[in-house]
Amino acid sequence: MSCYDLHSHSWVSDGTLSPADLVRRAAAARVAVLALADHDDTAGCEEALRPAPQVGISVVPGGELSVTWQATTIHVVGLQLDPSAPALAAGLERLRSFRQWRAEEIGRRLAARGIDGAYEGAQALARGRIISRTHFAHYLVSRHCGKDVRDIFKHYLTHNKPGYVPGRWAGLEEAVGWIREAGGVAVVAHPARYNLTAGKLRRLLGEFAECGGAGLEVVSGSHSRQDVDAMTSHALKFDLLASAGSDYHGPENPWLELGRLPALPEVLTPVWSLWEADAARNRGVA
Ligand code: AMP
Ligand code: MN
Ligand code: MN
Ligand code: MN
Repeated sequence: MSCYDLHSHSWVSDGTLSPADLVRRAAAARVAVLALADHDDTAGCEEALRPAPQVGISVVPGGELSVTWQATTIHVVGLQLDPSAPALAAGLERLRSFRQWRAEEIGRRLAARGIDGAYEGAQALARGRIISRTHFAHYLVSRHCGKDVRDIFKHYLTHNKPGYVPGRWAGLEEAVGWIREAGGVAVVAHPARYNLTAGKLRRLLGEFAECGGAGLEVVSGSHSRQDVDAMTSHALKFDLLASAGSDYHGPENPWLELGRLPALPEVLTPVWSLWEADAARNRGVA
């Protein structure tokens, strides 16, 4: 079991715990290093860092950036970033304004199919500045449009379904650039979730490495054993550092808990070796 969990969400995006409660829960679950990576918003980082010393955990400020690459939505996690860096702040602001328009458009499209009030319903469930499809899914479950969130995604919120609006997110190079300018490390999140062919995934990772991306989330709460093996080969081939993250969203998904992740395969170099080497140098150890 790994004590690093470098991908989690708070209610600043589509998680259900406050940043401080998320950090306390991670510490109780014996996570040693937790990254907060809310979708397109770093506003929770300050609150997450505050309780960390008392509960004995390190918090890595991060974010999960939405990217459109060859008409596919890809998520890029930025780790150890400075939330106040101007290019990142402006970039995230732009993604949030697209999100706002998209949320209204999802509402209009669902209304045209006879489901009124979805925008207002999703907005009422959002505690931060962003409205995600997760908020719509929870609202539609409450309206009995489907039996659970997964069912709603399948019938309303994915490609070619009534409430689906194609993303117009950041470019890959642009998102990696914002993360790097903020002093952070860019990591492709849950690479097995995009259902890309092996060839297309190779193209993505080639371009990602070319524009300064450094890591691949080899171990993810949404990866099978086979996914981990496949992503291990990709990380080695493209010389990417390996990350591990649960993608935790809150206690209502009891099958997924913070920090319950398999260890990274030993052939890989962990992404945290970057900042641990810095810390050791600062202590005069290495
Ligand atoms: P958005 O960034 O607003 O398009 O929403 C993406 C989020 O929706 C992801 O981060 C997941 O939390 C959630 N999500 C996507 N697909 C599914 C699914 N099939 N079932 C449950 N949640 C999903
Ligand atoms: Mn999410
Ligand atoms: Mn994601
Ligand atoms: Mn995530």
